[in-house]
Amino acid sequence: MSLAELGTFESFDPATGGVLASYPRHDAVAVHAAIERAAVAAVWWAGLGFRERRRRLLDFKAVLTQNLDKIVEMVARETGKPAGDATLESVLAITHLDWAARNAEKVLGRRRVASGLIAMNMAATLEYLPLGVVGVIGPWNYPVFTPMGSIAYALAAGNAVVFKPSEYTPGVGVLLAELFAESVPEQPVLQVVTGHGETGAALAGDPGIKKIAFTGSAPTARRVMAACAANLTPMVAECGGKDAFIVDEGADLKAAADAALWGAMSNSGQTCVGVERVYAVNSVYDEFLRELTERARGIRAGEHYGPITMPKQLDVIRRHIDDATASGKAVVGGPESVRAPFVDPVIVTDVPEESGAVREETFGPTVTVKRVADAAEALEKANASAYGLAGTVFSGNAKRATELARRMLTGMTAINSVVSFVGVPALPFGGTGESGFGRIHGADGLREFARPKAVSRQR
Ligand code: NAP
Repeated sequence: MSLAELGTFESFDPATGGVLASYPRHDAVAVHAAIERAAVAAVWWAGLGFRERRRRLLDFKAVLTQNLDKIVEMVARETGKPAGDATLESVLAITHLDWAARNAEKVLGRRRVASGLIAMNMAATLEYLPLGVVGVIGPWNYPVFTPMGSIAYALAAGNAVVFKPSEYTPGVGVLLAELFAESVPEQPVLQVVTGHGETGAALAGDPGIKKIAFTGSAPTARRVMAACAANLTPMVAECGGKDAFIVDEGADLKAAADAALWGAMSNSGQTCVGVERVYAVNSVYDEFLRELTERARGIRAGEHYGPITMPKQLDVIRRHIDDATASGKAVVGGPESVRAPFVDPVIVTDVPEESGAVREETFGPTVTVKRVADAAEALEKANASAYGLAGTVFSGNAKRATELARRMLTGMTAINSVVSFVGVPALPFGGTGESGFGRIHGADGLREFARPKAVSRQR
């Protein structure tokens, strides 16, 4: 199908609004054609077996590493983030690819299973087979790292992938597929479809797709599920968050302030596991707040982090800042911090828990800080959220920190550090409630893209 037949859409520089490039708008017919090609490629790729796939994926890793500058430049251009942040996410993505390639056979390969006492004459094996063609729908905030958390694991499990990048970052998606084709030129094992408004739904609704890995907002996840429902296509939904950060007695307050600042402000706060709510116990509250505000006053959008990538998110950020500062006390910044498309750091204390600024995902460089009586109250407030993606505990008491981390209703919790779990590929990534379901990364992430096959044999 020619470009003229498909039509095009444009990508933009988020800092200036200037047009960057045009990309094809793949409709349902074009998406279906890509899925049909992928189905053929999937049979070939699955037939290579674990060892050969591992070799090819490590070649892909080498190609990505050689082209790191090109990837970083494209990420920075499309998202507006500084090159250092673009480098960090790209390197992390490569780390995940390496882990998935090296561990797929160990996690998914055929193994004997003890048959147990009831059926003593039974031999049994278990293995995890590829699904076929997996559809990956990725977000714009970490356009390499986040989709690679599904793509690498789906490929390592033996599937072909059709990837629909965000309409804000199509160039990153196209570049990844081009680099993959350098390492695996024989078949279109990883393809990209671009578009806006119909492409994602066409992918999720196609009967040739055996699983959808979606990363995006909870409202869109519901629409993706509806599209998947037509064919009972299963999905992984990695949605948003409203992560809590608990500062308990005895915490290293300087380290906690560094971590809270980075967790809240890096990537302009456009992070699903970003810190959006801090609960500090009474005995450390004042000193922690002083440390945090001192640091935040030295941070400025456009110098330390980039613009807000998605223009319509500015409306949510503005509303939350207005609500928070109207009902609470702004200690850093305020409504004047919004200099579209840039937003300077905003820290507000004493915001009522029922405020939208505390309940809804902001996805901007803003954080609320609340004084609580003790760790129990901090945990209760942290858990009173519709989201359940990740969280943080800073404490001087190792036993209490572990207990708080385990009782936090999230998929991941970091103790005395922030979001460190994303750098550990063996750990599963995902949440509960409005944060979605299913897991990417680690052994669970590999199994997410495979079907268990049990065989029992009477001796
Ligand atoms: P979004 O607006 O929710 O999703 C946009 C994507 O969904 C587009 O690619 C769109 O493609 C597709 N889409 C829309 N309707 C669809 C349908 N009916 N069926 C299939 N696909 C459909 O997400 P976003 O704004 O890019 O991402 C921001 C959100 O992602 C935030 O909430 C953030 O917290 C979350 N996030 C989560 C994680 C995590 O791992 N948990 C990581 C990063 C970001 P078309 O326009 O072509 O339909």
